[in-house]
Amino acid sequence: MDRISPEKRSNNMARVRGANTKPEKIVRSALYKKGCRFRLHSKDLIGKPDIVIPKQKIAIFVHGCFWHQHKNCSRATRPTSNKNFWNTKLDKNMVRDAKVQKELQALGWKVFTIWECQTKTEPSLTKALRRILNVR
Ligand SMILES: [Zn+2]
Repeated sequence: MDRISPEKRSNNMARVRGANTKPEKIVRSALYKKGCRFRLHSKDLIGKPDIVIPKQKIAIFVHGCFWHQHKNCSRATRPTSNKNFWNTKLDKNMVRDAKVQKELQALGWKVFTIWECQTKTEPSLTKALRRILNVR
């Protein structure tokens, strides 16, 4: 992971942070199959949740484990080169995520995070989605 230059990684980041990443598509299609109807990238909501189920006030974020530093996840490593740059950037992401979640919850939204690593296998995805579907 450290062999990637910061520039390259920034490009990757721009791509990863954008809409319609692969994990997002996986989650969306799984929700759809379960009969869930939702909206995408609600721009009028704080933090622009990736998936929104307005009826039940459910906001879902599909997060990359590295960029959002999934706790105790093997993908959430900290680069050892350009340490300060990366620590600042990743810490900032985490602080923003927590703030967004709090603000949404204060507005009465139920906030869920689905992690990239949870979308990798069917059982872990099902488990992650069950929490959300149970609320509906
Ligand atoms: Zn993870």
